[in-house]
Amino acid sequence: MQEEKFVMEQPPIKYGEVFDPEIAVREILKAPKEERQQKLAEFKEKLAFQQVGLARVQDILIDEIRNKPNGKIEDFYDMAVELGAEFGMNKQQKKEIAKILDRYSLLYKGIENIRQKFPNTNDLYKELFFEAPKGKVELVTGPVSLYFKCYDFKDYLTVFYSNQRRHHGKKRDFTEEEKAEAMGCKAINIFSVSHPEIGRVVMAENNSGIGRNPKEEESAVIFIHEEQHAINSLFDKDLLDPNDPINVRNVRQSFLDAETMEEKEKILINFFRQFRKNAEAFAKDEMIAHYKDGHEDMALVELNMPKEEGGIYDFLEEPRKAEYLWLKSSDDIRALTKEVVEKTLVQEYKETLTIGVGAVRKMEDAGYEKEEIIALLTHEPLARWGKVVKRVLESDVK
Ligand SMILES: [Zn+2]
Repeated sequence: MQEEKFVMEQPPIKYGEVFDPEIAVREILKAPKEERQQKLAEFKEKLAFQQVGLARVQDILIDEIRNKPNGKIEDFYDMAVELGAEFGMNKQQKKEIAKILDRYSLLYKGIENIRQKFPNTNDLYKELFFEAPKGKVELVTGPVSLYFKCYDFKDYLTVFYSNQRRHHGKKRDFTEEEKAEAMGCKAINIFSVSHPEIGRVVMAENNSGIGRNPKEEESAVIFIHEEQHAINSLFDKDLLDPNDPINVRNVRQSFLDAETMEEKEKILINFFRQFRKNAEAFAKDEMIAHYKDGHEDMALVELNMPKEEGGIYDFLEEPRKAEYLWLKSSDDIRALTKEVVEKTLVQEYKETLTIGVGAVRKMEDAGYEKEEIIALLTHEPLARWGKVVKRVLESDVK
């Protein structure tokens, strides 16, 4: 982060001016037709300037939190708002910052509390995963992370399936399939633990010698990767407000009611695109974490790898089968479903991922720094990365 980047001779947004994209769009629509073109061009320029600027503010804010993890939330907020004034930060965006900082504060306090209560790593492990570890367990911590290095495979397994086990209420033995799945992942980020206030900051690494294990020097990289997931969960709205649940029964009914094949096809396409949208939120989280640790190309390969071929990020395995929908369907409907699945869940998904990685590359080529790129893209759905980056690069706000 270099200070000089903040200085532009004639920034599209003047210092202290407030820019609210939604209001600005409404004003464009109200303007006389002959002025709209000009206003739209100005709008795009301002939007790009604001997005990149606020991404830099976020980047500085994260650094500040890393340096002073127990700093005052009000101070973080004041700093962000002061820097944001340069980029027209509006009311909504200030609220957003306040929300993010609140979430951070809760997480941080949650981590502090539980560590004070369970200063011994084994006790903490037991508290979170309901069983004392069988072998050696080490704890690495950061402002938003509790990272367990497990030296016994059983302990890693326990963490790996801690969510499910909690659901099922009682302990059970692990199946060979489950073991194989855990062996395929060097590390894992747990979505929810016995203490919901610290959800997403709990991570574990497999150091048992069984399955995929990180090499010594790799461990630090994995920590960075997993910690990025926790940071994403603070900033990323897609992860915080999961998409609407998909109502299979309703879709099935309207599908059956539809009279023509065209109508049926439309319903199917929309239906499967919803699944893709959900999967894209997870894929984005992975892409950013992989980019952070320097392996975004690998993310592209792994995200596209079906579970049947050993893929560990196959978020579309279930919907791709589509079996629960059309059990008693005729051949032509089955063929149609297959076609739509191929289009929406394979081709379009692949395209979105490829465009996403391409967008990151383009920003890098234009000289943007990794942290700026991450801060910018965290706020955009994966499906929009291409567009956002195009606008930023065209408007020359750098
Ligand atoms: Zn990951």
